[in-house]
Amino acid sequence: MMDSQRAAQTDGTEGLFQADKRYVWHPFTPMRLWQADSDEPGRMIVSGDHFELIDASGRQYIDGFSSLWCNLHGHRVPQIDQAVRAQLDKIAHSTLLGHASPPSVELAERLVRITPEPLKKVFYSDSGAAAVEVALKIAFQYYRDRGESERRRFIALRGGYHGDTLGAMSVGGIETFGGVYRSLLFDTTFIDSPNPYHHPAGQEAGRVVSRQLEAILDEYPGEYCAVILEPIIQGAGGMLTHTPGFLTDVGRITRQRDVLLIADEVATGFARTGKLFACEHEGVAPDIMTLGKGLTGGYLPVAATLITQEIFDAFCAGPQQGRIFHHGHTYTGNALGCAAGVASVDLIFQSNLLEQLPAKIELIATRLGALREHPHVGDIRQAGMMVGIELVDDRKKKRPFDPARRVGAAVCLAARDRGVITRPLGDVVVLMPAPAMDSETLDRLLIAVVETIHEYFVG
Ligand code: PMP
Repeated sequence: MMDSQRAAQTDGTEGLFQADKRYVWHPFTPMRLWQADSDEPGRMIVSGDHFELIDASGRQYIDGFSSLWCNLHGHRVPQIDQAVRAQLDKIAHSTLLGHASPPSVELAERLVRITPEPLKKVFYSDSGAAAVEVALKIAFQYYRDRGESERRRFIALRGGYHGDTLGAMSVGGIETFGGVYRSLLFDTTFIDSPNPYHHPAGQEAGRVVSRQLEAILDEYPGEYCAVILEPIIQGAGGMLTHTPGFLTDVGRITRQRDVLLIADEVATGFARTGKLFACEHEGVAPDIMTLGKGLTGGYLPVAATLITQEIFDAFCAGPQQGRIFHHGHTYTGNALGCAAGVASVDLIFQSNLLEQLPAKIELIATRLGALREHPHVGDIRQAGMMVGIELVDDRKKKRPFDPARRVGAAVCLAARDRGVITRPLGDVVVLMPAPAMDSETLDRLLIAVVETIHEYFVG
């Protein structure tokens, strides 16, 4: 019997788990552990409803991390479902290479309208990492085509994360993710993360790091083409919030020195931080912005890189028909995905999502206040609906737990028993509820997490 026939014949959860272990390699997962672990139904998500995930046994869990930071309006949202179905009746996919399609035009028009003013053009791709690759290549080529071929280096933040492709990893500042591949990556200059809990300068971190940035750019004028960062909060690095004013400083420093600013809003975009885009908190307009995750409401893999008119024009100038940007994926601007994106963006405004955020953000801060003095909670970081609760062995000394204990993972597993699904970043418990989550569900989520942490350390 062929393998595919065998897989088709497996039925029931047990059969599914067997087939999963036989065929699927899971991302960012220690597969030996996965293979040895019990086939607990909570690991097999079969459906969703509003803000809940439903497992193979029918049990419901609050989706505490927006299905890896992408869900915006909940699951099975009638408006988005309908938009995808309507597009399916026309065509699922056609290429943007040499052709156009209505959903990709409609989505691009909206993205240009809602992002900071100077961003005028949309280049589509299909993951956050690809959007970052596009941003890096455009920045590099922009200066090359301007005759400044010495400008080809990038500056990024320690603890920054921009995706797992080689270019995106090259500007990634998380050693545990990129370390193995270091010899394959291009050389990037890293500056500190201006997070007050982790930086020795505390509340002065932003100012210190800005000066670091200034010093580097002044020492090597004409060498750097761009600074790339996650504005306001570095997600995968452990929800590292920045001291206020840092983004403003970086915006000014890069502008003064003709270095491009790439804002990676793949995680922060679409209302996660309390504003539509995190750059808005400090009124900073980047030259390039990357979007992904919430772009389709968490439905389909569409990402985008937005670029200023000035950068775009540089690609139209020059010899013959202008210069070509050598990049494009088969599914670039996929019609189903763009239709979901259009519906999701429209729903943000139709549902007054942004207006409802302050009360929810306040509720999160109030409920988590109950953990502030907890002996194993080192820091609680929050930027809007993005939250990290850093668990430590010794609060006073800021001493972390031995990583081998996998305390963050154990706490998240315990939260599952209280009906919550989320995923930690090391010993940082992440909470990233969908911005549209109703206050009652949000409250249940917060109470469950607070109780889990209390119970874990008592027990
Ligand atoms: N940039 C940031 C800021 C991210 O948080 C992520 C994903 N967590 C990415 C890029 C990569 O996105 P993707 O996983 O869709 O490639």
